[in-house]
Amino acid sequence: MNPFFLEDSQRLKKLPPYLFVEIDRAKRRAIDKGVKVIDFGVGDPDQPTPKFIVNAMIKAVKNPKNHHYPLDRGNTAFRQAAAHWLKKRFHQTFNPDTEILPIIGSKEGIAHLPLAFVDPGDVTLCPDPCYPPYKSGTLFAGGEPYLMPLREENGFLPDLEAIPDAVVKKAKLLFVNYPNNPTGATAPRSFYQKVVRWAAQHRVLVVSDLAYSEVYFGKERPISIFEVPGARDVAIEYHSLSKTCNMTGWRIGFAVGRPEVISPLLKVKSNVDSGVFTAVQQTAIEALKNSFGFTKKTNIMYRRRRDLLVSELKGLGFPVRANDATFYVFTRLPDGRTDSTAFCKDLLEQTGIVATPGVGFGAAGEGYVRFTLTVPEDEIREAGQRMRKHLRGR
Ligand SMILES: *Cc1c(COP(=O)(O)O)cnc(C)c1O
Repeated sequence: MNPFFLEDSQRLKKLPPYLFVEIDRAKRRAIDKGVKVIDFGVGDPDQPTPKFIVNAMIKAVKNPKNHHYPLDRGNTAFRQAAAHWLKKRFHQTFNPDTEILPIIGSKEGIAHLPLAFVDPGDVTLCPDPCYPPYKSGTLFAGGEPYLMPLREENGFLPDLEAIPDAVVKKAKLLFVNYPNNPTGATAPRSFYQKVVRWAAQHRVLVVSDLAYSEVYFGKERPISIFEVPGARDVAIEYHSLSKTCNMTGWRIGFAVGRPEVISPLLKVKSNVDSGVFTAVQQTAIEALKNSFGFTKKTNIMYRRRRDLLVSELKGLGFPVRANDATFYVFTRLPDGRTDSTAFCKDLLEQTGIVATPGVGFGAAGEGYVRFTLTVPEDEIREAGQRMRKHLRGR
């Protein structure tokens, strides 16, 4: 066969290898063999979108006014609803016309941000392990991700003082994500205070990814970086309805920040997409208005699953620490094992259980494994039994 006449671009070739390939393959093989796979791999709620949201969508989609290109900045009522939600949840006031922008899920808004602020030779500061778009968005813009290891002994918070001066000089963006994927860690107010001070001193834009702000079951509610004085000068924050309202497939979120940060992002976006389907924006208003009661219920469910999974894992010798937020349990491997890819491949082949190797989120995740809590309790129990047989021969 003739080779295709075009090669992948240099920027595509720069993307790190997709480390979940082997796991995906092993999963497919297990399913083909008829194994009942228990999937702790996907970061996607197992529950459906609530009925009140689906019903609002049915109404919105029937309105022909919603069938056209959305305007640049999106639906005014949606931006106002987002401003209202931010006020109610974090006690912060934002101008819905200049400081809030609808995005096609926060992944889109995050991955496009480097195109607005990063040039070749510039650096972005990314946590390691991390949500992959921070790194890929940087590479697409010609920038260079600098990886800040998140260590369990530091509560999975990055050490800003450890970043070499030469790197800081070239840094444009600093990604922070608490509650955190994949570690499940949360950040105290003092961390955001330190980040804001540091960013102002070094003229770095802080990109705060708050996708899990509503998925929590600890004593303290996660905070917004904007609750810290000075943050408005140096930060942009991303919110998403995906995890909060079981709306991962709907593709809607919003970015919040000063007009000088939002405008360049809008400029990029208006050249590559034409916004979020207006019917989805209109539906999201209902979701934002009524989400608090709903998330209370789902958080009770995730908490019970967490308690169950953590106790199963502890019994199996995982040195696991219970997370206070997100639907991820992130733990070091048992018995001093360190190869997370081999561990997960083995687990899948021997027990039909899918979990994600920590190294898939970055080199500093090696030695860890991530389980999601998007699995019903009876399957968590069954997984515990299967793992007992496999790991302990019991
Ligand atoms: C799921 C997730 C998002 C949200 O993605 P959407 O594009 O809004 O669906 C953002 N950041 C992190 C860390 C996530 O895990």
